[in-house]
Amino acid sequence: MKSHGEQSTSYLDAMHGSLKRYGVDRWGEEFVGVNEAGHIVFRAPELPPVDLHALAQTLEAQGVRAPHVVRFPTMIEGRIRRLSEAFAAAVAENEYPAPCCGVLPIKVNQRRAVIDTVDGLSDGPAFGLEAGSKPELLLAMSRPPRAEVPLLVNGFKDREFIRMAYHAAELGHRVVVVLESLREVTRFIAVAREQAWKQQPDVGVRAKLYSRGSGRWQASGGEAAKFGLTTLELLAVARALRDAGLADRLALLHFHIGSQITRIKHIKTAVREAARLYSGLQADYAPNLRSLDVGGGLGVDYDGSRASHASSANYTVEEYANQVVFEVMEVVRETGAVAPRIITESGRALLAHHAVTVADLREVQGGLLPAQEPREGEHRVIAQLRETLEFISASNYEEYFHDALDCRDEALQLFSSGNLHLEDRAAAEGLFARVRLATKAIVDGLGRPAGDIVDHLAVANCKYLANFSVFQSLPDAWGIDQVFPAVPLSRHGERPTVHSEVIDITCDSDGCVPRFAHPKENLSVLPLHERRDAEPYYLAFFMTGAYQESLSNDHNLFGRTHEVVVRRETEPQAEGTRRLHFVDGLALDVRDGDTNGVLLAKVDFDRKSIEGSLRERHAGQETTLGVAWSVDLLDAYPYLSRTQGP
Ligand code: PLP
Repeated sequence: MKSHGEQSTSYLDAMHGSLKRYGVDRWGEEFVGVNEAGHIVFRAPELPPVDLHALAQTLEAQGVRAPHVVRFPTMIEGRIRRLSEAFAAAVAENEYPAPCCGVLPIKVNQRRAVIDTVDGLSDGPAFGLEAGSKPELLLAMSRPPRAEVPLLVNGFKDREFIRMAYHAAELGHRVVVVLESLREVTRFIAVAREQAWKQQPDVGVRAKLYSRGSGRWQASGGEAAKFGLTTLELLAVARALRDAGLADRLALLHFHIGSQITRIKHIKTAVREAARLYSGLQADYAPNLRSLDVGGGLGVDYDGSRASHASSANYTVEEYANQVVFEVMEVVRETGAVAPRIITESGRALLAHHAVTVADLREVQGGLLPAQEPREGEHRVIAQLRETLEFISASNYEEYFHDALDCRDEALQLFSSGNLHLEDRAAAEGLFARVRLATKAIVDGLGRPAGDIVDHLAVANCKYLANFSVFQSLPDAWGIDQVFPAVPLSRHGERPTVHSEVIDITCDSDGCVPRFAHPKENLSVLPLHERRDAEPYYLAFFMTGAYQESLSNDHNLFGRTHEVVVRRETEPQAEGTRRLHFVDGLALDVRDGDTNGVLLAKVDFDRKSIEGSLRERHAGQETTLGVAWSVDLLDAYPYLSRTQGP
């Protein structure tokens, strides 16, 4: 018999192996681990490790069902500090004579808990905001003005938007309106002349660089990019400002070559090109040009590979900052330009890590029904399929699988032309499914690619139903094939028994997670455990804090999920939330997700009219559905409720 010590060593080994299985040791190295219960823990700065499985159970016990988003504000603070320290170190190393600062594009995640964290750092580096639309600007200008950081205004701007920016300047914000087109400069000048403004915003210009990024968003840079001014246009804007007596307002040059830049080389060439433009403009057109806004694009290593493919980046935050500062310094040295304040607009790299999306897994779908016994008078193709199933082996599986395919197709054709019994069609389907499973087992055992039958074998994967909507919680997985790492929150001391696809609860075949981030090769099926009745089994998607909430949609009317912010109990509770006690002095501030009623109102069926028509329909009718019950339904969460038993 093994001693207790030996047992716990093998248990620990199993847990370590489990982290490797999901790649957590790579992509989650700094912030995800496992505890002795075999549960996944989140390590946010300045907080004790948080057991995410226990957290989900605590929430469920208080009626806050999965799916939910768990937010760790100290993670955002930590990422901001890391980026700011990286730039400070780069400034020191390169003896760069101007400061650097960061500005968060609000569009990356507009949720209040996020903006309050970024804008409310009391003892950290100052961070500004970037607004790309009127509501985002209203949000930013309603906050206390900060003298030390700019408020950047990007996006397409009509007169109203530019006037809002002027008002923001009058409220004391250091506003820079970044012009994206020649028409915008005309509008800006017109607004400048409309009245005697007490304070005026500065002007920035967005350059269209020839340098391009890499990865999924590379079309954001280069000649054909949607945004930015060509060199000719830049000069035309500068001249227009000069002619209007506003040359001294041109204070910033901006570029953005795309999100998630996967190669450091692309950052280097873009920064160098932009720094040259900066020095040329400063020398001849814009004496007060003092800021270079290098846009966003700092990559996130979603799969932990540190490679230059779309879900990773081949550089670190520190390397990024150093490269940016180094390139600008080189140009400043060569040209004698006044060194710009360098502004980074990185968003993804600051916010992705702070949020975890948790869904509960319900049931594995796609099991085999018991095989049908041979039937008297059954068709020849059925007998052939039985034989294929009996004799398929590692030496003949390709030929036998193709034979089985032919038999199955023949059976379907015979059935459609009225020449096959229904029982035989069922037998053909069942036998073919078994041949496919047997082939898959052979191919998996051989570890060889399965040639042209690979697509057929994928159908044999089982499917785990996850109680969430991909469209709401992981829109980029659906829209642009982005991969996120996913891990079950419990049972890491146990070997997984199923390799399963993950499908969501929307009525849409796109509602699935096609791939999961992994450092070796992204996975199309995830190793998972079979659910034990009455025991919740949660799956967490990590690094969902950037863009997922802002791009989410209510497809099928599955709406916003519950949001849970993990804070120290000594911190004030956020407005509009309910506070639950967790453990070790930690509190959970819960903001409820959309109810059925809220979702119906979003599509113009407001609560009153639904209640009214239900009442009318009930009047004089004998139904078991009471009005009170239907009202309860309007207040309910649209996702699946916890079920007992099958
Ligand atoms: N700045 C601009 C103008 C952008 O369009 C974006 C997003 O694409 C960003 C900054 C933020 O980019 P990222 O989140 O990749 O850092």
